[in-house]
Formats: sequence, C-alpha cells, structure tokens
Amino acid sequence: GQCATICPVGAIVEKNEIYPVWQALEDEDKHVIVQTAPSIQATIGESFGMKPGLVVTGKLVAALRKLGFDRVFSTEFTADLTIMEEGHEFLQRLEGDNNLPHITSCCPGWVKFAEHNYSDLLDHLSSAKSPQQMFSALSKTYYADLAGIDPESIYTVSVMPCTAKKFEKERENINAGSYKNTDAVLTTRELSLMIKEIGIDFTSLEDEEYDELLGKATGAGTIFGTTGGVTEAAVRMVKEKLTGQTLERLDLGFRGIQEAEVKIGDRDLKLAIVSGLQEASQIMDEVRKGESEYDFIEVMACPHGCVGGGGQPLLADEEKKDARGEGLGSIDEHKYIRKSHENPMIKKVYEEFLEEPLSNKAHRILHAEFKDRPKT
Ligand code: SF4
Repeated sequence: GQCATICPVGAIVEKNEIYPVWQALEDEDKHVIVQTAPSIQATIGESFGMKPGLVVTGKLVAALRKLGFDRVFSTEFTADLTIMEEGHEFLQRLEGDNNLPHITSCCPGWVKFAEHNYSDLLDHLSSAKSPQQMFSALSKTYYADLAGIDPESIYTVSVMPCTAKKFEKERENINAGSYKNTDAVLTTRELSLMIKEIGIDFTSLEDEEYDELLGKATGAGTIFGTTGGVTEAAVRMVKEKLTGQTLERLDLGFRGIQEAEVKIGDRDLKLAIVSGLQEASQIMDEVRKGESEYDFIEVMACPHGCVGGGGQPLLADEEKKDARGEGLGSIDEHKYIRKSHENPMIKKVYEEFLEEPLSNKAHRILHAEFKDRPKT
C-alpha cells in the first residue's frame, strides 16, 4: 500500500515502509532487529479493538516475533541512555557554563521546527540524539560486536509514533560509523497493517518478553512516551547526582502539567513542559527576548507527547490520549528500577563501550549536530 501518514509538524508526508521491511524479513542473509518506542505498548491495542491505554507489551513482542524479527528490543533502553547523556549536559550547564535554559531534543518533530524557526537558539538544545537513533547506532556497533554479527548484515527497524522519526533517520550526519543506522521506520498504524496482513490474531496472543541485550529498561525510560515524562526521568537522575542523596519520592507529578519548581540542593530549578508547537513557539519567543526564567524546557511537538503522535491509531480524542498516558505511567509505577542511572544494562554499556556520559566516544555515537534551515 501507499497510504501516507502525516507528521504533526505538517512538513513531512512520507509513504509507508512496509514493503522494504517485508523484503528484509524474507532475506535470509539479513539479521533483522526491531525496537519499539515506549508509547506503542499503550496505543497499538486500539488497532485491534482493545481499550485505549491498555498496556499490551507482551502481545506486541509476541506479534513482532511472529512477523519474523530476529531480535525484539525496546527503545526504552536508549531512553534511559538519553537521560544519562542529556542529564549530564544539563548538569554541566548548571554547574558551569550556564547556557540555560537547557532544552530537550528527543522529539525530532520539535528539533526540525526549531531548526527552521529558532536557529539562533539551537545551542540551548541538548545535542543528544533521540532514543531511536541512539538505539540504531548501538545496534550496528556495540550489539554487532557482542553478537558477532557483521554490521552490514544487520537491518534495523523501529516502530515509532510518528513520521518525524522517518525524517530523522535520513538527516545528514546522523549515522555513527559508515552504516545507515536506522534502515526503516514503521508507524504504529503501519505495524498494525502488517500484523493484520498475515492474519495474526493480536488479541489472543500469549505474552512474550523483550530480548534482553539492549532490552532492559527502567520505568524512567517508559514515561518518555508521554508529556512531562522526560522531565521527570531527568530530574530523578540530576537530583541524585547533584545532591548525592537518594531520591525516595519518584512520582514527581510532572506528567500532564506545564510548569514546576523543584528544589535541588540550594537551588530552585524552574521547569517547563511544553507539548504542541504553538506552545513551544510562545516559550521560545520568551527565551529569545531574554524573558524566560526557566532552567529546563521539555518540548514535544505533539499535544500529549508521543501518545498523541501522528502515526498512532487514528481518531484519538483527548480522553483516549489521556488513557494512553496513564497506561504508560502505570508501567513505570510497577517497575522495580525507576531511575535511568540505576539500570544495570546502562552501567554495562558505559563500562564496556561508551566509557562515561559525554565521553568522546559517547559524543561520536550518541550526539548529533543541528542546523539552520529556511524559515517556515
Ligand atoms: Fe513524534 Fe513524539 Fe515528537 Fe510527536 S512528540 S513528533 S510523536 S517524537
């Protein structure tokens, strides 16, 4: 099929990538791995008539194995890694160079909008790539080495909430090493079509678990899929690092709100959580005029964050998006480890490969450069 999905930014209309993914799955020489964005587990059920917000992680994994993927991983792992990299950048700004506010960059729809409209403020954006790109970069380096697989034969697919991720994988200078890092991006709707195409009865699938290597994640990684989640995950990490104290209360209540103040040591940090490009423009205009007091600004291009993304099941009203966000929150609440820096797999990937947050190697693999683009 050639149905197009439309990016919330309005600038990106792309044809679907179902066909190349089928081709890769049929190619015996390819090792095809898939990553699923945090939000998908709370949205894909709707494509099969299930209740909005119902968490169907186990069925999602089972369906992907039935489709023939060799490894099924969760992007939540690199959401944790994003927090490590971006959180340390924020720490550096707080402790030294003071180029505040620090603005998030994990939403490629927002990054592209900023490149077009706020290129004078790009140095406030974290240079961390989105979790999707971090995952793909590690797949063809760290994972390839560990698994003993030639990166050339690895084909990486990501299941994402929007077409902005399709744009992101084609950006210049986005690839670590000489291989294309993300080969194909499927939206939630495209994946649903594939599942239907081969007649999998999604609702009756037995739950399965993600593959482990690059699969384990914390609750902090999960809530990336909803507005306020990135801020909450970052504060959990930054607060412990700055004060040396263990954070007992984890539900900081940032999800679903627009601003907050949080005391870290002797500082009161002002945080803003923005979803939707109109809100983003308002706050960026204030930053430009020097009228903004915020230290940290989380921006998601879609209202409600990725649970409201343009590639999610259609006809999502406010109520459905809220239910999806709550579904993700409930996964976080039930996770044993809820802070990114306590994820044992994150510690391992730094020990074995990346050295430490913001090391030269981490920069080469996990960070990107943004650029000035013509005004929209
Ligand atoms: Fe995509 Fe999420 Fe950004 Fe929307 S908020 S453009 S779904 S990354």
